[in-house]
This record gives sequence, C-alpha cells and structure tokens, in this order.
Amino acid sequence: MNSGIGIPPSIRGPQQVRGACPHDCPDTCALVTTVVDGVAVKVQGNPEHRPTDGVLCAKVSRYTERTYHDERLLRPLRRAGPKGSGRFEPVGWDEALDDIAARLKDIAARDPQAILPYSYCGTMGLVQGEGMAARFFHRLGASLLDRTICASAGGAGLTHTLGGKVGMKVEFFAEARLILIWGSNSITSNLHFWRLAQEAKRNGARLVCIDPRRTETAEKCHEHLALLPGTDAALALALMHELIEHDWLDHDYLAQHTLGWEALRERALRWSPERAAMVCGLPAQQIRDLAREYGTTRPAAIRLNYGMQRVRGGGNAARAVACLPALTGAWRHRAGGLLLSSSGWSPADRAALQRPDLLAGRTPRVVNMSTIGDDLLRPTSPAFGPRIEALVVYNSNPVAVAPESARVVQGFAREDLFTVVLEQFQTDTADYADYVLPATTQLEHWDLHTAYGHTDVLLNRPAVAPLGEARPNTQVFRDLASRMGFQDPCFSDTDEQMCRQGCGSRIDFDELLDKGFTSLPVPDAPFAHGGFPTASGRCEFFSAALARQGLDGLPDHLPNYEVAGASQHFPLAMISPPARNFLNSTFVNLRSLRDIERQPVLEIHPLDAQPRGIQDGGVVRVFNERGEYHCKAQVCERARPGVVNGLGIWWRKFGLAGTNVNQLTSQRLTDLGNGPVFYDCLVDVQPA
Ligand code: SF4
Repeated sequence: MNSGIGIPPSIRGPQQVRGACPHDCPDTCALVTTVVDGVAVKVQGNPEHRPTDGVLCAKVSRYTERTYHDERLLRPLRRAGPKGSGRFEPVGWDEALDDIAARLKDIAARDPQAILPYSYCGTMGLVQGEGMAARFFHRLGASLLDRTICASAGGAGLTHTLGGKVGMKVEFFAEARLILIWGSNSITSNLHFWRLAQEAKRNGARLVCIDPRRTETAEKCHEHLALLPGTDAALALALMHELIEHDWLDHDYLAQHTLGWEALRERALRWSPERAAMVCGLPAQQIRDLAREYGTTRPAAIRLNYGMQRVRGGGNAARAVACLPALTGAWRHRAGGLLLSSSGWSPADRAALQRPDLLAGRTPRVVNMSTIGDDLLRPTSPAFGPRIEALVVYNSNPVAVAPESARVVQGFAREDLFTVVLEQFQTDTADYADYVLPATTQLEHWDLHTAYGHTDVLLNRPAVAPLGEARPNTQVFRDLASRMGFQDPCFSDTDEQMCRQGCGSRIDFDELLDKGFTSLPVPDAPFAHGGFPTASGRCEFFSAALARQGLDGLPDHLPNYEVAGASQHFPLAMISPPARNFLNSTFVNLRSLRDIERQPVLEIHPLDAQPRGIQDGGVVRVFNERGEYHCKAQVCERARPGVVNGLGIWWRKFGLAGTNVNQLTSQRLTDLGNGPVFYDCLVDVQPA
C-alpha cells in the first residue's frame, strides 16, 4: 500500500494511506484512506488488521464528511463580541500566536500555575494529544490537569485489584462459553468486541448483559439484568456469595494467586441474593441464576466497560467485578477472565513524548478536569493556589461534556479569563474562546496510537495536506514555545520523529511504517498462573495500598450520593449514556448523523410517564436542584421503571433550550480515582 506522501499531487493516481481511528473508543481501528488528486475520497477499515477486520462504525465511515465539512474551522479567529456570543473575526496566525504568547508570558511571570491546559481524548493519539502540548506546559510550569473525566475510577479499581489496566486479549472472547457484558452498550461503543461476542454466540455461548438500560446490546443478549445505577458492587458481592455457598470456587487458584480471600469471603457472605436484590432492584432468582451460570460455565469471560463506574462507588464496583474471575479460576483459560482496559500492556514511551523532566523539579498544583465548573470560579487561596487566569483547551469540549454545566458556563463566561481553544469546529467551548485556532483532523497529521480494547499499536500517516490554514496541535505548541523563548531541542522535533520517540525501544517503528500496525507480545492467558502486576504478584482482593490511605482494603458496595427512590422531590435516577450515532460530543455537528438522532431524547418507562402525563414525543422538562433541561420524551421500555436515560452528549447549542443533559449532573467525585459521577443523579420530569 503506497503512503502517497512525498509524491507531487500532479502525478498521483489514487493512493491508499494507512492510518488509525483517533476517537475515544476501545476498538482503535486501522484506517485506509483513498486519496485522489490530494483529496480524501473514502475512509475504510483496514482488512489486514485483525481487530478492525475491514469494518468501521457508521460514525467514522463518514470521516471524509467530517474532514471536508463546510463548517470546518480553517483560519484562526479572535473574539469580537461578549464571551459565549460566538462572534469572532479572522486573524492571521502570527498575530494570534504573538498575542497568545504575550498574554501567557505575562501571566507566567506572576505565576505559571494560573495557566491551565484542558484536554482529553478528542484524539487518542499520543503525539497530537499530550505530546508537544505536555512539553510546552511542563516547560512553562503550568498547572497540571488530572484527566479524570471518563475512566479514572474504573482504572483505579482495576489497578488496585489486578495491578494495572490489563486483562484478557479481546480476540479470545470469541471462544468463551459465557460472556457477561457489564456496563457496556457494545453495539454502540465497542462494535468490534460485539462481532466477537456474536461469533461466540453462534458457537453456542450465552450472552448476559448487565446494564440499567435495555440497550441495543441488551436486547440481543440471552439475558438482561436491568439493575439500578450504582449497584454493580452489590450484584458482584451477591454473585460471590453464591459461588461460595455452592462451592463453585477454584480453591487452588485462590490459594496460589490471590490475596485477602478469607476477608473477602466473610464480606461476600453478608450479601445474600435477597439483600442484593433489594439494593439492585432485581429479582433474587435472577441473581442466583446468573451466579450458577458464572460458577458452572467454562470458559467464562467478563467484558466490563466504564459506564458502571460513573457513580460514587465506581472504583469499588470495578474492584468487586474484577475479583470474580479469580474466585472461579476463570483466568486459567485464554477465553476466561475479564477485560476493562488493555492500555496497561502498552510499552509506549510517554515520558519521551511528554518530557516531565522539563518541570525541572517544580511540582505544579493539579486541577481535576471534572470540577472545572467550580475551579474556574475559585479565587486565589492557600488551598487552591492562584485563580485560573488562562485556559488552553485542546481535544476537548468541556462546556458540553463537563458536569454541572451551569457552573462550567459561568466559569467560561468570566471576562477576565483568557481562553484559547484549538478546534476543528465551532463547539460550545469554542464559543467562549478569546482565540480559536483551527486544528487538523486525523487525515491531515501524523500520530501514534495505542489501544485500550486490544493489544496492537498503530501509526497514523497524514493522507492529505492540512485544509485551509489548519495546523496540527504539535505545530501550534511548537510555535508558541518559540515565541516564549523556549530553546530546548525537543521543541524542534518533527511529528514523525515524535512518533518514533513514542515507540521507545519495545515497539518496532519500522514495522509501523511498513504495515501501519504491530501487535504487542501479550501472553494468550496472561494470568493463568497468577503473575499479576500487583505489589504481591497476586490478584489483590485486599489492597494494602488502599488500607494505607485509610480506605477500605476490600471492595464493597457504596450507595450512590443520590440513591434511586430516596428523594421525594426527585424520585427518578438518571443516567446519560451516549446516543448511538455520537461519540461523547464528537459527531454531533455532522448533519447526517444528527439527522438520524434527530433531537435530544429522554427515555422514560410507561409506568413513570403515565402518572406524569408525559406523552411519547412530547417535550419534557427534566430538572433537579442544579438546573433543568428540555428534550423529547421517548416513552419506552429501554428505560426501566424508576430510571430515565438522557442520551448524550448533545452540543448545548443544538439542544431545545440551549442546554444539554449535563445541566443536571453534579461535580461530586468517585470513591477512587477522583472521577465524575455522571450516572449518580436524581431528577424529576414533567411535560414542558
Ligand atoms: S469502531 Fe471505534 S475505533 Fe473503530 S472506527 Fe468507530 S469509533 Fe473508531
């Protein structure tokens, strides 16, 4: 396959350029872009890459629509109206960068910690993500950002149990006889795993979905347990209870490869199916039946996903579920065990990319991205440090995606806050910028990608030249570094050099150049003989590290901050999973995808809709003490009684009343990992 790079456009025929999907999705697909006369005409899945198998989801199949969208930002813009008005005027790159550098220099002279970078997984690429940007902010001594908004509770839970973000190899799910799909709408957000689950199903496997919502995935599984949000740990402990009571245990595995079994046993025995049934809102018999299946089927695999950890006890819940395979010895088989994230297998050299050494001994304060609403409004104090004076946002759309939007908007609207946004489109966040800098899409830049749903590394080559005046993030931070007077040689590295640096000594960059992907040498059954990457080398039911922090060393059920049914004023629990055709807030502005989703929707069960006089298709007001949100009601059984599903994440400006579902979510944090609690949220609903 010809890369097409370096060939004059005039003599090019159709070229096929290998790349990687940049989006926050476990599948990290290998792309093949067909380019004719310098224009990308088609983006397809690479058939040579096994996890991709030639197939992309509907969202990224339309990637050329995204790249050539008539609303792409193609030149720098400077604010020309009040914050949030969306009024901008074009400005030249030099003028914009000179002014931005001068403003940042001025603030940094007082205290560089008053500058906050704000970014997440708008691209998962290691180079356009935290590559040159991290070098720049480390050298500056800016505040550090705790990147918690999606997965930190589950990641911490997994790390305190298995020792890292490690687990089964995804391809072996196809050989499992029982698959628990736990907290995941795989058809929407893990499509290539779903294909493997289908293969297992065709071979006789049983699929069980555990999710408060009757998702597209749940309705295609043999069994669906529609538990209440935030009760997953209670369910996991009751499953353990039954495994113990019926002796569906692998005693040898427990003795050789786990830590804290006696203590966990004692705790689990307090969780009868009847007790868990009350907490989870499930029939006790359904819990017993699931325990029997899990205890007596080999191999049994769990595909856990991050939906279930967006609640107060999310870290403990991930820990409780991650304990299960060690009770039954499921890890002994390559098609048994659990997968939440495989990112911990990656040997990519992030330090070489991000250069934390540029901090030169400084230890800037850390700001949690999930509390950006409150933090932008905090004054200078000894506890917080300096008031945030400048915000540089890239690969993220916090005004739409951060919790408790009213506070977030209030913070972004501060006239004294200097905000720079690197973006492809005029998002809700870009509306609040002082400068909007046009960013390249994945078809226009180099990048290096590891995955969290499989164990390959991918290289993304640029397929076409940057559109208009768009620049890669790396170039913007390189140019700013030069204006700030940063002389360090690392600011001269090219993107291709950075891809090579990120590979370190254990990823073969030449193979990436040649094939576009390479597989990591992960054992087929990594924990068949123990060897967990924990301090003890065992699966840690009891975590001494947590106990040392004064926390419970064993996993437990921690009730939500806002327990379903506990409030008279707000009797309904709300979760806000992504709409099928969006990926967080990405793709909301693609007309063809928005036309499918049509309008923001709240799914509500007929038993909750009827007494409220809510009609299917009617506009409703969803509210709690944090705010209100208007959307269309969909009266249906995708919602279980007592729980409504506010599908996200719409851009506020496309919402019915200029808000989205995060108007209702709170800035409280999870038990482990300081993550947000999007699905720990009580509301009520009435016709608008
Ligand atoms: S399935 Fe995921 S990784 Fe693959 S193309 Fe779609 S968003 Fe990208």
